[in-house]
Amino acid sequence: ATSYVGFDSITQQIEHKLLKRGFQFNVIVVGQTGLGKSTLINTVFASHLIDSKGRLESNEPVRQTTEIQAVSHVIVENGVKLRLNIVDTPGYGDQVNNENCWDPIVKYIKDQHSAYLRKELTAMRDRYILDTRIHCCLYFISPTGHSLRAIDVIVMKKLSEVVNVVPVIAKADSLTLEERVAFKQKIRAELVYHNIRLYPFDTDENDEEEIQLNESIRSVIPFAVVGSERSVIIDGKSVRGRKNRWGVVNVEDENHCEFMHLRNFLTRTHLQDLIETTAQIHYEAFRSKQLLALKE
Ligand code: GDP
Ligand code: MG
Repeated sequence: ATSYVGFDSITQQIEHKLLKRGFQFNVIVVGQTGLGKSTLINTVFASHLIDSKGRLESNEPVRQTTEIQAVSHVIVENGVKLRLNIVDTPGYGDQVNNENCWDPIVKYIKDQHSAYLRKELTAMRDRYILDTRIHCCLYFISPTGHSLRAIDVIVMKKLSEVVNVVPVIAKADSLTLEERVAFKQKIRAELVYHNIRLYPFDTDENDEEEIQLNESIRSVIPFAVVGSERSVIIDGKSVRGRKNRWGVVNVEDENHCEFMHLRNFLTRTHLQDLIETTAQIHYEAFRSKQLLALKE
Protein backbone atom coordinates (compact mmCIF):
# COMPACT_ATOMS: atom_id res chain seq x y z
CA ALA A 1 0.00 0.00 0.00
CA THR A 2 1.49 3.33 -1.05
CA SER A 3 -0.43 5.24 1.63
CA TYR A 4 1.65 3.66 4.40
CA VAL A 5 3.92 6.29 5.93
CA GLY A 6 5.15 4.32 8.95
CA PHE A 7 3.99 6.38 11.89
CA ASP A 8 3.15 3.16 13.68
CA SER A 9 6.82 3.00 14.59
CA ILE A 10 6.08 5.75 17.10
CA THR A 11 5.49 3.11 19.77
CA GLN A 12 9.05 1.85 19.27
CA GLN A 13 10.37 5.38 19.31
CA ILE A 14 8.64 6.05 22.61
CA GLU A 15 9.80 2.78 24.03
CA HIS A 16 13.38 3.45 23.02
CA LYS A 17 13.30 6.86 24.65
CA LEU A 18 11.73 5.58 27.86
CA LEU A 19 14.17 2.70 28.08
CA LYS A 20 17.11 5.03 27.69
CA ARG A 21 15.84 7.30 30.42
CA GLY A 22 14.63 4.57 32.77
CA PHE A 23 11.93 4.79 35.38
CA GLN A 24 11.88 6.30 38.81
CA PHE A 25 9.86 4.78 41.65
CA ASN A 26 9.77 6.13 45.19
CA VAL A 27 8.30 4.27 48.15
CA ILE A 28 7.99 5.31 51.77
CA VAL A 29 7.33 2.96 54.69
CA VAL A 30 5.44 4.22 57.73
CA GLY A 31 4.43 2.61 61.01
CA GLN A 32 5.33 1.91 64.60
CA THR A 33 8.83 0.79 65.49
CA GLY A 34 9.40 -2.94 65.29
CA LEU A 35 6.62 -3.80 62.85
CA GLY A 36 9.10 -5.08 60.28
CA LYS A 37 9.22 -2.15 57.89
CA SER A 38 12.92 -2.31 57.14
CA THR A 39 12.78 -6.09 56.92
CA LEU A 40 9.90 -6.12 54.46
CA ILE A 41 11.52 -3.62 52.15
CA ASN A 42 14.65 -5.70 52.14
CA THR A 43 12.55 -8.76 51.38
CA VAL A 44 10.62 -7.17 48.51
CA PHE A 45 13.70 -6.07 46.67
CA ALA A 46 15.99 -8.65 48.23
CA SER A 47 17.63 -10.30 45.30
CA HIS A 48 18.41 -6.90 43.89
CA LEU A 49 19.68 -5.27 47.02
CA ILE A 50 22.00 -7.95 48.29
CA ASP A 51 24.97 -6.31 46.66
CA SER A 52 24.14 -2.93 48.12
CA LYS A 53 25.84 -2.38 51.42
CA GLY A 54 22.93 -3.67 53.41
CA ARG A 55 23.32 -5.93 56.38
CA LEU A 56 22.35 -8.99 54.43
CA GLU A 57 25.86 -10.33 54.51
CA SER A 58 26.90 -9.02 57.87
CA ASN A 59 25.54 -10.07 61.20
CA GLU A 60 24.92 -6.69 62.69
CA PRO A 61 22.10 -6.47 65.18
CA VAL A 62 18.83 -5.02 63.92
CA ARG A 63 19.38 -1.41 63.11
CA GLN A 64 17.04 1.16 64.51
CA THR A 65 15.81 3.76 62.11
CA THR A 66 16.16 7.13 63.78
CA GLU A 67 15.55 9.57 60.97
CA ILE A 68 13.81 9.78 57.63
CA GLN A 69 16.27 8.16 55.32
CA ALA A 70 16.21 7.67 51.57
CA VAL A 71 18.22 4.91 49.96
CA SER A 72 18.65 4.64 46.21
CA HIS A 73 19.08 1.56 44.12
CA VAL A 74 19.23 0.99 40.41
CA ILE A 75 17.66 -2.21 39.21
CA VAL A 76 17.96 -3.49 35.66
CA GLU A 77 15.78 -6.23 34.25
CA ASN A 78 15.90 -7.16 30.57
CA GLY A 79 17.33 -3.80 29.65
CA VAL A 80 14.73 -1.86 31.61
CA LYS A 81 16.24 0.42 34.19
CA LEU A 82 14.34 1.18 37.37
CA ARG A 83 15.66 3.73 39.82
CA LEU A 84 14.22 2.82 43.16
CA ASN A 85 14.16 5.17 46.11
CA ILE A 86 13.17 3.65 49.41
CA VAL A 87 12.41 6.03 52.21
CA ASP A 88 12.51 4.50 55.64
CA THR A 89 10.99 6.43 58.54
CA PRO A 90 11.55 6.16 62.25
CA GLY A 91 8.65 4.63 64.11
CA TYR A 92 6.18 7.14 65.32
CA GLY A 93 3.62 6.89 68.02
CA ASP A 94 6.30 5.53 70.35
CA GLN A 95 6.17 8.57 72.58
CA VAL A 96 3.91 9.34 75.48
CA ASN A 97 2.61 12.34 73.63
CA ASN A 98 1.99 11.46 70.01
CA GLU A 99 0.43 14.69 68.96
CA ASN A 100 1.54 15.71 65.49
CA CYS A 101 4.05 12.89 65.31
CA TRP A 102 3.07 12.42 61.67
CA ASP A 103 4.08 15.98 60.75
CA PRO A 104 7.66 15.18 59.70
CA ILE A 105 6.42 12.45 57.35
CA VAL A 106 3.71 14.59 55.76
CA LYS A 107 6.24 17.41 55.48
CA TYR A 108 8.76 15.14 53.79
CA ILE A 109 6.18 14.15 51.17
CA LYS A 110 5.13 17.75 50.57
CA ASP A 111 8.74 18.88 50.34
CA GLN A 112 9.24 16.53 47.41
CA HIS A 113 6.22 18.01 45.64
CA SER A 114 7.52 21.45 46.37
CA ALA A 115 10.97 20.67 44.99
CA TYR A 116 9.43 19.26 41.83
CA LEU A 117 7.23 22.31 41.37
CA ARG A 118 10.17 24.65 41.81
CA LYS A 119 12.07 22.83 39.09
CA GLU A 120 9.03 22.91 36.84
CA LEU A 121 8.72 26.64 37.27
CA THR A 122 12.34 27.46 36.57
CA ALA A 123 12.64 29.41 33.37
CA MET A 124 15.33 27.21 31.92
CA ARG A 125 13.55 24.01 32.72
CA ASP A 126 15.65 20.92 32.91
CA ARG A 127 14.71 18.60 30.12
CA TYR A 128 14.31 15.88 32.64
CA ILE A 129 13.38 16.58 36.23
CA LEU A 130 14.65 14.14 38.82
CA ASP A 131 11.47 12.89 40.46
CA THR A 132 11.58 12.37 44.21
CA ARG A 133 7.82 12.52 44.68
CA ILE A 134 6.62 9.59 46.74
CA HIS A 135 4.56 7.21 44.62
CA CYS A 136 3.49 4.82 47.31
CA CYS A 137 3.27 4.82 51.08
CA LEU A 138 3.19 1.41 52.71
CA TYR A 139 1.40 1.83 55.99
CA PHE A 140 2.13 -0.87 58.58
CA ILE A 141 -0.70 -1.98 60.84
CA SER A 142 0.08 -3.87 64.02
CA PRO A 143 -1.32 -7.46 63.94
CA THR A 144 -3.50 -7.05 67.01
CA GLY A 145 -6.51 -8.77 65.51
CA HIS A 146 -8.68 -6.16 67.16
CA SER A 147 -9.13 -2.85 65.44
CA LEU A 148 -7.09 0.05 64.18
CA ARG A 149 -5.52 2.22 66.82
CA ALA A 150 -6.80 5.77 66.99
CA ILE A 151 -3.43 6.99 65.81
CA ASP A 152 -3.57 4.73 62.72
CA VAL A 153 -6.84 6.31 61.73
CA ILE A 154 -5.50 9.82 62.11
CA VAL A 155 -2.21 9.18 60.35
CA MET A 156 -3.74 7.28 57.45
CA LYS A 157 -6.21 10.07 56.97
CA LYS A 158 -3.46 12.71 56.94
CA LEU A 159 -1.28 10.69 54.61
CA SER A 160 -4.07 9.81 52.20
CA GLU A 161 -4.47 13.50 51.48
CA VAL A 162 -0.97 13.73 50.02
CA VAL A 163 0.10 10.29 48.83
CA ASN A 164 -1.10 6.86 47.63
CA VAL A 165 -1.50 4.93 50.87
CA VAL A 166 -1.41 1.13 50.81
CA PRO A 167 -2.03 -0.48 54.20
CA VAL A 168 -0.39 -3.78 55.14
CA ILE A 169 -0.91 -6.01 58.15
CA ALA A 170 2.59 -6.43 59.54
CA LYS A 171 3.95 -9.73 60.90
CA ALA A 172 0.91 -11.62 59.69
CA ASP A 173 2.49 -14.86 60.93
CA SER A 174 1.23 -13.93 64.38
CA LEU A 175 -2.41 -14.29 63.30
CA THR A 176 -4.22 -17.53 62.42
CA LEU A 177 -5.86 -17.63 59.02
CA GLU A 178 -9.31 -17.04 60.53
CA GLU A 179 -8.05 -14.13 62.60
CA ARG A 180 -6.45 -12.68 59.52
CA VAL A 181 -9.67 -12.77 57.50
CA ALA A 182 -11.67 -11.24 60.34
CA PHE A 183 -9.04 -8.55 60.97
CA LYS A 184 -8.99 -7.58 57.31
CA GLN A 185 -12.75 -7.19 57.22
CA LYS A 186 -12.66 -5.16 60.38
CA ILE A 187 -10.00 -2.84 58.99
CA ARG A 188 -11.84 -2.35 55.71
CA ALA A 189 -15.04 -1.51 57.57
CA GLU A 190 -13.20 0.98 59.76
CA LEU A 191 -11.58 2.66 56.78
CA VAL A 192 -15.01 3.12 55.24
CA TYR A 193 -16.47 4.29 58.54
CA HIS A 194 -13.78 6.92 58.97
CA ASN A 195 -14.10 7.93 55.36
CA ILE A 196 -10.45 7.32 54.54
CA ARG A 197 -9.98 7.18 50.78
CA LEU A 198 -7.04 5.00 49.96
CA TYR A 199 -5.45 3.98 46.70
CA PRO A 200 -6.74 2.83 44.19
CA PHE A 201 -9.07 5.66 43.26
CA ASP A 202 -11.92 5.29 40.81
CA THR A 203 -12.29 7.95 38.19
CA ASP A 204 -14.88 8.45 35.49
CA GLU A 205 -12.24 7.80 32.89
CA ASN A 206 -11.56 4.25 34.04
CA ASP A 207 -12.37 1.59 31.49
CA GLU A 208 -13.74 -1.86 32.26
CA GLU A 209 -10.25 -3.34 32.57
CA GLU A 210 -9.09 -0.73 35.08
CA ILE A 211 -12.23 -1.09 37.15
CA GLN A 212 -11.63 -4.84 37.32
CA LEU A 213 -8.00 -4.40 38.29
CA ASN A 214 -8.90 -1.96 41.06
CA GLU A 215 -11.56 -4.29 42.40
CA SER A 216 -9.12 -7.19 42.54
CA ILE A 217 -6.65 -5.07 44.47
CA ARG A 218 -9.29 -3.83 46.89
CA SER A 219 -10.21 -7.41 47.65
CA VAL A 220 -6.68 -8.11 49.01
CA ILE A 221 -5.92 -4.80 50.71
CA PRO A 222 -4.68 -4.65 53.43
CA PHE A 223 -2.00 -7.14 52.36
CA ALA A 224 -1.18 -9.53 55.19
CA VAL A 225 2.58 -9.82 54.93
CA VAL A 226 5.54 -11.55 56.49
CA GLY A 227 9.08 -10.42 55.94
CA SER A 228 12.43 -12.09 56.41
CA GLU A 229 15.96 -11.29 55.53
CA ARG A 230 17.02 -14.87 55.95
CA SER A 231 16.76 -17.76 53.56
CA VAL A 232 15.66 -21.23 54.54
CA ILE A 233 15.85 -24.41 52.52
CA ILE A 234 12.47 -25.90 51.59
CA ASP A 235 12.40 -28.96 49.33
CA GLY A 236 15.98 -28.31 48.38
CA LYS A 237 15.21 -24.76 47.33
CA SER A 238 16.43 -21.67 49.10
CA VAL A 239 13.56 -19.30 49.89
CA ARG A 240 12.95 -16.33 52.15
CA GLY A 241 11.39 -17.60 55.30
CA ARG A 242 11.03 -17.56 59.06
CA LYS A 243 11.82 -20.72 60.92
CA ASN A 244 10.50 -21.44 64.36
CA ARG A 245 9.92 -24.46 66.53
CA TRP A 246 6.69 -25.56 64.92
CA GLY A 247 7.66 -24.99 61.34
CA VAL A 248 8.67 -22.62 58.62
CA VAL A 249 6.80 -19.67 57.21
CA ASN A 250 7.66 -19.47 53.56
CA VAL A 251 7.37 -15.79 52.78
CA GLU A 252 6.94 -16.48 49.08
CA ASP A 253 4.20 -19.09 49.49
CA GLU A 254 0.75 -17.65 48.77
CA ASN A 255 -0.77 -20.07 51.24
CA HIS A 256 1.34 -18.59 54.01
CA CYS A 257 0.99 -14.87 53.41
CA GLU A 258 0.36 -12.20 50.82
CA PHE A 259 3.92 -11.10 50.34
CA MET A 260 3.90 -12.16 46.68
CA HIS A 261 0.65 -10.29 46.08
CA LEU A 262 2.22 -7.16 47.48
CA ARG A 263 5.38 -7.61 45.47
CA ASN A 264 3.47 -8.18 42.23
CA PHE A 265 1.31 -5.20 43.01
CA LEU A 266 4.33 -2.96 43.54
CA THR A 267 6.60 -4.20 40.78
CA ARG A 268 4.32 -5.67 38.13
CA THR A 269 0.68 -4.68 38.06
CA HIS A 270 0.50 -1.19 39.57
CA LEU A 271 3.94 0.39 39.21
CA GLN A 272 2.92 2.66 36.37
CA ASP A 273 -0.47 3.48 37.85
CA LEU A 274 1.05 4.47 41.20
CA ILE A 275 3.41 6.83 39.37
CA GLU A 276 0.63 8.26 37.23
CA THR A 277 -1.80 8.71 40.11
CA THR A 278 0.84 10.56 42.09
CA ALA A 279 1.35 13.04 39.29
CA GLN A 280 -2.28 13.41 38.30
CA ILE A 281 -4.00 13.46 41.66
CA HIS A 282 -1.66 14.19 44.56
CA TYR A 283 0.90 16.40 42.88
CA GLU A 284 -1.75 18.20 40.86
CA ALA A 285 -3.72 19.03 44.02
CA PHE A 286 -0.55 20.36 45.67
CA ARG A 287 0.40 22.34 42.59
CA SER A 288 -2.92 24.07 42.05
CA LYS A 289 -3.04 25.03 45.72
CA GLN A 290 0.46 26.52 45.56
CA LEU A 291 -0.17 28.40 42.35
CA LEU A 292 -3.40 29.79 43.71
CA ALA A 293 -1.60 31.01 46.81
CA LEU A 294 0.99 32.71 44.61
CA LYS A 295 -1.68 34.71 42.83
CA GLU A 296 -3.14 36.11 46.01
P1 GDP B 1 11.01 -1.67 61.83
O1 GDP B 1 11.33 -0.98 63.12
O2 GDP B 1 9.56 -1.52 61.50
O3 GDP B 1 11.89 -1.27 60.70
O4 GDP B 1 11.21 -3.25 62.09
P2 GDP B 1 12.43 -4.20 61.66
O5 GDP B 1 12.36 -4.50 60.21
O6 GDP B 1 13.69 -3.62 62.17
O7 GDP B 1 12.04 -5.55 62.43
C1 GDP B 1 11.89 -5.65 63.82
C2 GDP B 1 11.96 -7.10 64.29
O8 GDP B 1 10.82 -7.84 63.83
C3 GDP B 1 13.16 -7.86 63.79
O9 GDP B 1 13.62 -8.70 64.81
C4 GDP B 1 12.62 -8.69 62.63
O10 GDP B 1 13.35 -9.88 62.43
C5 GDP B 1 11.21 -8.99 63.10
N1 GDP B 1 10.31 -9.18 61.97
C6 GDP B 1 10.30 -8.49 60.81
N2 GDP B 1 9.31 -8.92 60.00
C7 GDP B 1 8.66 -9.90 60.66
C8 GDP B 1 7.53 -10.74 60.34
O11 GDP B 1 6.92 -10.66 59.29
N3 GDP B 1 7.15 -11.66 61.31
C9 GDP B 1 7.79 -11.76 62.50
N4 GDP B 1 7.35 -12.68 63.35
N5 GDP B 1 8.84 -10.99 62.82
C10 GDP B 1 9.28 -10.06 61.93
MG1 MG C 1 13.30 0.28 60.54
